[in-house]
Amino acid sequence: MKSLAIFGSSGSIGLSTLEVVRKYPDRFRVEILTVNSNTQILESQIKEFNPSLVVIRDPEKAREFRRLAGYRCEVMSGDEGLIAASSGGEYDIFVGAMVGFAGLPPTIEAIKRSKRIALANKETLVVAGEIVIDLSKKYDTEILPVDSEHSAIFQCLTGEEIKEVSKLILTASGGPFFNRSIDELSNVSIADALNHPTWKMGNKITIDSASLMNKGLEIIEAHWLFNLPKEKIDVVVHPQSIIHSMVEFVDGSIKAQLSVPDMKIPIQYALTYPERLPAEYVKTNFPSIGTMTFFLPNMEKFRCLRLAYDVMETGGTAPCILNAANEVAVNRFLNGEITFTQIPELIEETLQNIEITPKPTLEEILDCDKQSRAFSESLNIQEKMNV
Ligand code: MG
Repeated sequence: MKSLAIFGSSGSIGLSTLEVVRKYPDRFRVEILTVNSNTQILESQIKEFNPSLVVIRDPEKAREFRRLAGYRCEVMSGDEGLIAASSGGEYDIFVGAMVGFAGLPPTIEAIKRSKRIALANKETLVVAGEIVIDLSKKYDTEILPVDSEHSAIFQCLTGEEIKEVSKLILTASGGPFFNRSIDELSNVSIADALNHPTWKMGNKITIDSASLMNKGLEIIEAHWLFNLPKEKIDVVVHPQSIIHSMVEFVDGSIKAQLSVPDMKIPIQYALTYPERLPAEYVKTNFPSIGTMTFFLPNMEKFRCLRLAYDVMETGGTAPCILNAANEVAVNRFLNGEITFTQIPELIEETLQNIEITPKPTLEEILDCDKQSRAFSESLNIQEKMNV
């Protein structure tokens, strides 16, 4: 029996993780649950899974929750609560399912305790990849990818030598705007951008998928997880999302991992590795799929992908700036403040204005994140464009 700490239990990865727990109640026990602010979902999860500790990041929501719900379990709040739960709570596996930069500090605490990390929060590796990987080596901590592409690559690499890999091929669905022209992109609505063709996910990652920033973040994530340079990491658009990613070896042979898309498969694998447990989450039927197609990503149209390759080249805090500006830009797009094509503009503008630190400490990364956010929040992109 393994106990789980699910950081981000009300999001789509958190909910899917709990479905895996429901399927294998004799294998997994839920010890810790955390949410940003969704106390309604949290309450039903507490009733069903009976955790010993919960964290509500929003302090106001936490106060209200304590008052109304009483004390069925210990309740903590704020970023301090997340860190305290991660560094002091009882659990075997840390499921990093939070959205954005906020996932970094609690993940670091779990790594320092040598807990297995089932990592869905790609931003952790994007902003602090070197620190996170160094710490995982120092504390002999396993980091198992939950992101479907990275889980696919991890599965293809099982039994292989990394020195015999010639390249990783990350697949991208292409998002809802794959067939739109550059001109059409500037007029897309929020609803269009939230309408992902193959995966049902939270708002942040869905917008990132539409802009291809998600793939950009995943290249950086793959670079750190598998210790390969960006020259060995390719992206191919595969609209059916059946192949979750591939590895090409030095002899020209390619391994791929496939299935009808369902996040419960990579989640369960990260929880049970090296074992595979039976599950009927999906049935992959090739005749009914019929055709699988592949295209080059258009980096002129999807500038976010180009920006991600650029910040990898620059290194230091550049990926942290990109990530912070992107989080702000996505929020501002969802609030109707900027257009879809202004997302990369806002990120570029932030990258040009925030100083890049070459070999940052964790404190410098936290500081860079704050600065970059403040800058991109205050940036009047409309005005900038008219100049
Ligand atoms: Mg992914």
